Amino acid sequence: MRKSCIKVLKREGEPIRRALLEMDLLDNSARICSEEDYLFLPLTEKPPESQLKELPGEFELTEKEFEEQKGQLKLEDLLDNAPHFEIVGDIALIEDDVPEPQKVADAIMKVKKNVKTVLAAMSPVQGEFRTRRFRTVAGEDRTSTIHREYGSRFYIDLERAYFTPRLATERSRILTQIKDGQTVVDMFAGVGPYSIMIARKSPDIKVIAIDKNPDAVEFLRHNVELNSTSNVEAIEGDANIEAEKFAGVADHVIMNLPHNANEFLDAAVKLCAPGAIIHYYDITHEDDLFDSSLKLIEEAAERAGRTIEVAENRVVRSYAPHQFNVCIEVRVL
Ligand code: SAM
Repeated sequence: MRKSCIKVLKREGEPIRRALLEMDLLDNSARICSEEDYLFLPLTEKPPESQLKELPGEFELTEKEFEEQKGQLKLEDLLDNAPHFEIVGDIALIEDDVPEPQKVADAIMKVKKNVKTVLAAMSPVQGEFRTRRFRTVAGEDRTSTIHREYGSRFYIDLERAYFTPRLATERSRILTQIKDGQTVVDMFAGVGPYSIMIARKSPDIKVIAIDKNPDAVEFLRHNVELNSTSNVEAIEGDANIEAEKFAGVADHVIMNLPHNANEFLDAAVKLCAPGAIIHYYDITHEDDLFDSSLKLIEEAAERAGRTIEVAENRVVRSYAPHQFNVCIEVRVL
């Protein structure tokens, strides 16, 4: 069958394969193939330019004949309306309002042999610590697992701390900006996906990882051990208060607390060495993707007698109808 596909150098194929998976663009009904140094990744549809821009690295959009992926049972083979689900470690997550959740959970366990538990989310991500409540629909009755991402491992209890695998590509994008010898402050570190991935890049990078949720920090410390990273300082506390102790040390400040990061902008600016970059995440409406958030950052810089330059504005992913998770990157002078 002839399909649109991404042609990419084999050694650069994995980040792009993951990104396509996260965007639901990788066509699992066709077999990935290779020719000489190149990998060809089949697509479910020809993506629009805006989505192509979200893919990491160098690649070419082309067309090719693919063989059918045989023998692999798909969720669509078992269910008429296969719902979207997410996998964290060996746990599959579905929404509680999917029709016939038991049937869906059983089908997922048949198709995904490494899934040991299916949880249904009983609440949205909520509260100061951004956690969710779950109920077990199938498999082992637990909410903890170990998730693997780009060679890092994260122990997580999904009811006690926030984690999403959907930011894997975004995290790898931030990683490319961090250089040896730099100091990174991860103001809302959670169980450490940004902090640990960055710390693993080089022992000459120092990471200060802060979170207010004691459970998240317990897992963060565990994950520091699990990944043998000795260059992460894990701190349990309020980012506004803890930042006072590290004024002027940061080359990068990561602010992954969409909806509320604006309440921490004065502290973030204070953390910045001259020329440091703030990576500011927000949830915004399509009619005002960046401007209002940017204004808030500008005002915080002004209050501290500093100025900013915009390094990059980008859409990370869609969040809800007409709403987007965005990242604004500014240099604080
Ligand atoms: N960066 C992590 C990730 O990508 O998985 C976690 C992001 S989660 C959206 C936001 C985190 O901010 C949560 O772990 C929450 O506990 C933490 N948090 C909320 N308020 C905080 C505060 N005042 N100071 C420090 N951390 C806070």
